[in-house]
Amino acid sequence: MFKGIIVEKDESGYKAAIKDIDKAQLPEGDVTIQVSHSTLNYKDALAITGKGPVVRKFPMVPGIDLVGTVEESTHSDYKSGDMVLLNGWGVGETHWGGLAQTARLNGDWLVPLPSKFTPLQAMSIGTAGYTAMLCVMALEKQGVKPSDGEILVTGAAGGVGSVAIAVLSKLGFRVVAVTGRSADADYLKKLGAVEILERSQFNVPGKPLAKERWAGAVDVVGSHTLANICASTRYQGVVTACGLAGGMDFPSTVAPFILRGITLVGIDSVMCPRAERIEAWRRLATDLEIEKLGTISHEISLGQAIDVATQLLNGKVRGRVVVDVNK
Ligand code: NDP
Repeated sequence: MFKGIIVEKDESGYKAAIKDIDKAQLPEGDVTIQVSHSTLNYKDALAITGKGPVVRKFPMVPGIDLVGTVEESTHSDYKSGDMVLLNGWGVGETHWGGLAQTARLNGDWLVPLPSKFTPLQAMSIGTAGYTAMLCVMALEKQGVKPSDGEILVTGAAGGVGSVAIAVLSKLGFRVVAVTGRSADADYLKKLGAVEILERSQFNVPGKPLAKERWAGAVDVVGSHTLANICASTRYQGVVTACGLAGGMDFPSTVAPFILRGITLVGIDSVMCPRAERIEAWRRLATDLEIEKLGTISHEISLGQAIDVATQLLNGKVRGRVVVDVNK
């Protein structure tokens, strides 16, 4: 038996609770893992609370990422004792996930834990941090350099935003942070932001084109915020869109694309090919100052995860939340 969060949906409604689970109930997979840590991402909070249609199969163990030790494996790349991590692939949505002491997964989904990171550090980065690195890599792939100008990061005090600021500033970019939490300005400056802008300047309808400012952007908010960022991106600048914290719509015009030649790059961490995700983790090991992880993340127990999920959706959680599933 092992402990884990189980999400159920039946006539009595949608509920998440900690339960003792029989190992015989684990899903199919060629690698069984003793999980040490998972995290609470925005998506996990939606899955636990039922506030968004993340879980597509019930009962479900939520948790879109995890780190742990291989207990048993019939996959040729992994043997008992190996340290591995996982992000995405529908885990915590259609396949039992990381918010439990044991997981059984497809070995092709796993990434060896980079030797630079402890399990706790890897989950301090988690899916949010790995997604932030995919955004940075996309900016670089499109040729954006520190000398091109400022990079805007929205949802700055959240998981993706915090890691994006830390990585971009380490790479020499001048980073401007957008937040709804002005009280967190010191936190954002400690991570590397040089200027803090108020969220309310972005999340209302704006003009199709505004004064050109950004060489690049990492947007986790979507909706009017993304439209306003595109409108104020410099000629041939690059905007990466990875989130919908402010809404799924995109009320923009084609003006920034056809008059300023800007590029909008979509970022998906879930089905991202293996080579790219291994490269993202390699880059995190070189381009993120490990000391900043202590500022970005805090740890909770499995028992606290259900309550903290609601706080996260209410914008009350700063940075990253690591879950020690054995506490
Ligand atoms: P967090 O909850 O940690 O951070 C989201 C941040 O967005 C908040 O901290 C807040 O920042 C800001 N925010 C929240 N609500 C609003 C709003 N209504 N209007 C404007 N800003 C808002 O989430 P994550 O960082 O983990 O994820 C961010 C987004 O990225 C989510 O939508 C998530 O689903 C998406 N995501 C997508 C991935 C992909 O593969 N494409 C992978 C990972 C995440 P502040 O307080 O600073 O204003």
